Amino acid sequence: MKAIVVRPPQEGVEVRDVNLEEPNNGKILIRTKLSGMCGTDRGIVSGKLTFSRPPDGYDYLVLGHETLGEVVEGNEHFKPKDLVVPVVRRGCGTCLNCKMGRQDFCETGNFTEIGIRGAHGTMREEFLEDPRYLVRIPSVLRDVGVLLEPLSNVVKALNEMEAVQRRTWWSCDDSTYSCRTAVVLGSGPIGLLFSMALRNLGFEVIVANKRPPSPVEMEVVNGINASFVNTSEHKELKPDLLVDTSGHPSAFIPILPKVKKNGAVILFGTTGQENYGLTAEDVTTLVENNIIIFGSVNASKLDFEMGANLLVTLLGKYGELVNKLITKRVGVEEAPEVLRRKVPGEIKTVIEWK
Ligand SMILES: [Zn+2]
Repeated sequence: MKAIVVRPPQEGVEVRDVNLEEPNNGKILIRTKLSGMCGTDRGIVSGKLTFSRPPDGYDYLVLGHETLGEVVEGNEHFKPKDLVVPVVRRGCGTCLNCKMGRQDFCETGNFTEIGIRGAHGTMREEFLEDPRYLVRIPSVLRDVGVLLEPLSNVVKALNEMEAVQRRTWWSCDDSTYSCRTAVVLGSGPIGLLFSMALRNLGFEVIVANKRPPSPVEMEVVNGINASFVNTSEHKELKPDLLVDTSGHPSAFIPILPKVKKNGAVILFGTTGQENYGLTAEDVTTLVENNIIIFGSVNASKLDFEMGANLLVTLLGKYGELVNKLITKRVGVEEAPEVLRRKVPGEIKTVIEWK
């Protein structure tokens, strides 16, 4: 079958025929419908994500971890034509978090991730999946279910935010976060999904980038009643919650001392590749203001399940705006080019498998 193949840590990507002789062992056979492309995929293709590796016994890796698939051969729980999304990370089998299905908090680091490290991904015509790692989603998500994987990471981070903020009275007198302001740094797919999810929790949302918004970004930001700030022109941001999706310390460190008392900071972006310091005065401010800063990566199966519910809600509330996050659909033959170079004005480009 056709697959999109990489050879980490070497750079490069190609479409080729692969013959993966995988044992069935009660797995579900799934036909891939849509594959999302993200910064992680491009990091692997460019050879910059050095932790990427093929599965044991292979000299190549099938790329792909953002997936919407359709069941071909199921079992008592998964029927043919059911829409499914696989979770990405597979546990180490030894640490307590992995044994409890929370491999997103693996303590050994000996996990695998489909399409990223040590396990083949889903950028191929079909794949076999252990039902333990599969989430069934409603048919209303047929066009946008491919956004569930990135959204699951957002859901995990916001679940953590709610958990850590129980340290104080932080929700508002209508039980939502309507008296709180969130600043989201970055207006890529993750930044916009965070913005939608935060609006849904009641936050006032300011999306910030160091450049003006693209027309689609502006339409989405306006459509969810958020606002856009160009940080190269405007610096006075005073959030209760700061979410960095940029990975650039120079973007979020100057805002840290301005986060309001008892506020929280979520670090989500990676690989900004720069050094940028924090002063002792800033540290004093963070201490005096009870600011909590945490990093968040990956998601559990429960976060995927909650993400599917959220995606249905967002589709109900914002309709076409959710569809607009998918700015381009390409065929498999065009995918290597898009994986090498971002499409201008792109939020999310997906591959349509025929
Ligand atoms: Zn583990």
